[in-house]
Amino acid sequence: MKKSYAMESGSLLPYCNSKLLPSKVLMIVLIMLLIASCTPSVPTAETASTPTAVIAGEAATKPPAELEPQPKPTIAPFRFVLPTPGAEPVSGWRPPLYPIPWAVSAYDHFYFARPIAADNVNWPLADYRYGGVFFAPNIVHTGVDIDANEGTQILAAGSGTVVSADWGLYTEAPGNQTDPYGQAVVLRHDFGYKGQTLYTVYAHMSEIIAVIGQHVETGDVLGLVGATGATTGPHLHFEIRLGENTFYRTYNPELWMAPPQGWGVLVGRMTDEDKNLLYQFPVEVRPLPSEVPLRTVKTYAEGSVNSDPYYNENLVLSDLPAGLYKITFEYKEKRLQFWTDIYPGQVTYFTFTDKGGFQVKPPPVPTLDFLPKTATAEP
Ligand SMILES: [Zn+2]
Repeated sequence: MKKSYAMESGSLLPYCNSKLLPSKVLMIVLIMLLIASCTPSVPTAETASTPTAVIAGEAATKPPAELEPQPKPTIAPFRFVLPTPGAEPVSGWRPPLYPIPWAVSAYDHFYFARPIAADNVNWPLADYRYGGVFFAPNIVHTGVDIDANEGTQILAAGSGTVVSADWGLYTEAPGNQTDPYGQAVVLRHDFGYKGQTLYTVYAHMSEIIAVIGQHVETGDVLGLVGATGATTGPHLHFEIRLGENTFYRTYNPELWMAPPQGWGVLVGRMTDEDKNLLYQFPVEVRPLPSEVPLRTVKTYAEGSVNSDPYYNENLVLSDLPAGLYKITFEYKEKRLQFWTDIYPGQVTYFTFTDKGGFQVKPPPVPTLDFLPKTATAEP
């Protein structure tokens, strides 16, 4: 049976055959008859009463209004879309960063921009955070590593003056090509904190572009990403130093780099029954609702890393989209968990103690001499 369309009637109707009648009225009547005769499978209220035409099943014989409600697909009200199962979630994109300096509370100090531009991955590698141990049992990581291709531009995280631009930063031997930092640049910033000088360090460069004595603004190019020094591949090692330009005065850059807009930072201090810090203690941080673990972060190792003077933390996890999170870890063979909100552009601070368990509230307000000179007291 050939199917054609009756264009003359002004509508598109399926024909059972190609025979046409001259009169439009006759044609329409015929069309109706033909449709009725060649579509017996469409049940109507009348045909449903005849016992010979059970074709489409019982449900189809009922008027639509009487259809039993079908179960609707269950859609969670909110769920993170994970771009690549198995990969670190929330890894491929970040919103624009808060403008620097950024500080919602008088104790925060997100003074720095990211040293890699936003068209690249510009957040710390998850497995190479500050306070971790990766290279040797007794060497604690004093900065964060940002994954980047060889030759990627390295940018000044804040305005300042170049005070070092050479090999030999760690060994204090300019030109020493066995130095673990490789080719590195150090900036002494135009601003400090609590009356102390701030420095940033940019290491493993393939090429140094800045020169000693040069004054740079935020975003100026200091050099290019490379793999010089103690590294297995190209990346940027980035440090914050406070008070003195030395390996022993570093602080966690995740507490100093402005977070992406709408995202926040989890900061914790975890201690055991003797009130000692828990070292290299794995903690799982996952968004709710979600069955997928978002991040596993470890507390700092014991060694040459420093805690923020206000938070006294030993755990920092930055770049968390605002929302509800479940924090989970094993302690004394028990699985413990608590829930906390992460707020946009802010630090969420928690403590864990052996006796008191979890507390989610900021540390006690310090004495006023703690406050940076630029900060004002709370209104
Ligand atoms: Zn590093």
